[in-house]
Amino acid sequence: MTTVVDVVVIGGGQAGLAAGYHLRRLGLDFVVLDAQTRAGGAWQHAWDSLRLFSPAAYSSLPGRLMPPQAGQEYPDAGHVVDYLTDYEHRYDLPVHRPVRVNAVRRDGTRLRVETESGVWSARAVISATGTWWRPFLPAVPGMNVFTGMNVFTGRQLHTAGYRTPAEFAGQRVVVVGGGNSGAQIAADLASSTELTWVTSRPPRFLADDIDGRALFDAATARRRALDEGHTDTGGVASLGDIVAVPPVREARDAGLLKAQPMFDRLTSDSAWSDGTRARIDAVIWCTGFRPALSHLAPLALRGQRGHIPTNGTQAAGEPRLHLLGYGDWTGPASATLTGVGRPARDAARDVAALLR
Ligand SMILES: Cc1cc2nc3c(=O)[nH]c(=O)nc-3n(C[C@H](O)[C@H](O)[C@H](O)COP(=O)(O)OP(=O)(O)OC[C@H]3O[C@@H](n4cnc5c(N)ncnc54)[C@H](O)[C@@H]3O)c2cc1C
Repeated sequence: MTTVVDVVVIGGGQAGLAAGYHLRRLGLDFVVLDAQTRAGGAWQHAWDSLRLFSPAAYSSLPGRLMPPQAGQEYPDAGHVVDYLTDYEHRYDLPVHRPVRVNAVRRDGTRLRVETESGVWSARAVISATGTWWRPFLPAVPGMNVFTGMNVFTGRQLHTAGYRTPAEFAGQRVVVVGGGNSGAQIAADLASSTELTWVTSRPPRFLADDIDGRALFDAATARRRALDEGHTDTGGVASLGDIVAVPPVREARDAGLLKAQPMFDRLTSDSAWSDGTRARIDAVIWCTGFRPALSHLAPLALRGQRGHIPTNGTQAAGEPRLHLLGYGDWTGPASATLTGVGRPARDAARDVAALLR
């Protein structure tokens, strides 16, 4: 069965909902197709102790401030799920779940959106599928999970698979990665495991009084400077990487977060660095994510580094397609709760203009 609609938004996480909010305001005919069984996007899969790197009021989508979470300056992921659930009901957004989009194809003047539960025929598509669904793992000798030839026989998981320190109590655990995920998960494990935290360069903590608000401002200033032809400000990278949310600050101040250099290779039960061997039980790879764009493959739009070239949010090679929320290349700080509002508004306006 084919359903005809003006706009299909693919993904019902925060980016898809922000797009929906603006499409609704513009009075457009649209649906949101989301692969999850319930609201909340990636937040419903986060580890138990994850804390936002900004206070609630600075983690809001257009139209509705995130309420504070009782007793927490930096809300947890459950609070974000509640907020997103409320948001889509409040604005009566037409989200269909669970609907996974397998492919988007050109179909004359329209785009054909193929899913496991039918086909949608649209005049424009906004893709907002996030990154959580494509964990990135570096290639390190002894851990080759891509080929299935694992040499290391202990447990290996990515940030996306981590839930709680209870699973690792008393074990020798290596956490890899010097970003916010690595620091937060290392802090989570520090007091109940034999933790080794390894980073490819020394970890850079932001000053304790700086949080995600400053990251957002820095990203915006950098984009503005680049757009106006000024010198690159360095953006977020100039500030540091790790927001010292309370659990990270406590572990660091207790001397539990001391990073070691990255190991060279894994053997069946050990990590090796410079000829030194450390026996370990588990490795947690906090090594980032890549954009989940496989459903767009039939459009053959990919450029360098797996990204699709864009002008703002509009795909350079397909004006009926917008990309939202994947990172700075789809709008400054667009992969954050606060930052996605503006590119979502711009994408919705562009789509409205196209449909006129
Ligand atoms: C560990 C971590 C901590 C973060 N902390 C913060 C923070 O403190 N503050 C902040 O502002 N940001 C933070 N972010 C960044 C960002 O806010 C989140 O990654 C957020 O989940 C991105 O929202 P999204 O809507 O772009 O993607 P997602 O939340 O991933 O939502 C995408 C939705 O699309 C669906 N989908 C995917 N593929 C398909 C398909 N083919 N068909 C249909 N549906 C599909 C998914 O199931 C999902 O529901 C953090 C990110 C990570 C990874």
